[in-house]
Amino acid sequence: MTPFSYSRADDAARAIDLAGTSAAKFLGGGTNLVDLMRETVERPIRLVDVSGLSGAIEEREDGSLLIGAGVKNSTLAAHRAVRTRYPVLARAILAGASAQIRNMATVGGNLLQRTRCTYFYDNEGARCNKRAPGEGCDAIGGFNRIHAILGASESCVATHPSDMAVALAALGATVHITGAGGARSVALTDLHRLPGDRPDIETVLEPGDLITAVELPALPLAAQSTYRKVRDRASYAFALVSVAAALEVKDGRVRDVRLALGGVAHKPWRATKAEALLMGGPATAEAFRAAAEAELADARPLNDNGFKIELAARTITAVLSELAGANA
Ligand code: SF4
Repeated sequence: MTPFSYSRADDAARAIDLAGTSAAKFLGGGTNLVDLMRETVERPIRLVDVSGLSGAIEEREDGSLLIGAGVKNSTLAAHRAVRTRYPVLARAILAGASAQIRNMATVGGNLLQRTRCTYFYDNEGARCNKRAPGEGCDAIGGFNRIHAILGASESCVATHPSDMAVALAALGATVHITGAGGARSVALTDLHRLPGDRPDIETVLEPGDLITAVELPALPLAAQSTYRKVRDRASYAFALVSVAAALEVKDGRVRDVRLALGGVAHKPWRATKAEALLMGGPATAEAFRAAAEAELADARPLNDNGFKIELAARTITAVLSELAGANA
């Protein structure tokens, strides 16, 4: 497993040029960079070692948590504050990959991992706009059971593979970045892009940018949170659909809620429409189902993944019902 959580330096961009792909393409690191190099999907001439990034988790006086980009996934999932105050995050991390990978993968690397679209990896036989912009997308007319139902484009229907990022989206996390222009931060939900006509550009990071930390706000609501991942087998599989949720119920009504979906889009999908519908309303399975359907009204299924719409609606309803029961 690569220790590189990020390698999008100018040299890396130049390396991609030399490899004969897009001049405008930037190379993100991520926990599957080595896999992509083995498949010759990425062929950098230089990698930037970022293993010296902070591996510390800082509990601040205001209740927020500052997580270094170099923190290992297993360390984060086991941290007392994460387990007790943000259980959705601990559960999402433990639902991802294998114990061996979680012991090596970092927070920054997890965020920047690349899609597992099989056509993206098929460097010899498949067309892929993410790999070679303008070439076409063989997933759209191909076998697309694992692909996106929300926010996709005619250029790309890939999904983002991270579980951790879905929990961070629900929690309103902020990503700290340092780059040529100094330090800045972006909301986790703004870090990844929808594919549009440039699926090769996956994040808002610029050349020379480096993710240094992720910040979790103080969020008492998050103590009542959970993550459910629906997948083809119980371990080491990516989500067909996943749901990260936090819910506060008072006198039978929703006092506050956070909801995000994984496995359905090119980025972690914060379910803002559902959240808005739920706020202040009854904490019932019927209301949860109605909010889920509203969120999924814009879903556009492909040939093989129409089942994801009903699966997502049922999973949202089940997770919120579970949390409401725990609240009651
Ligand atoms: Fe490439 Fe995206 Fe199409 Fe997959 S869905 S083949 S990643 S363009």
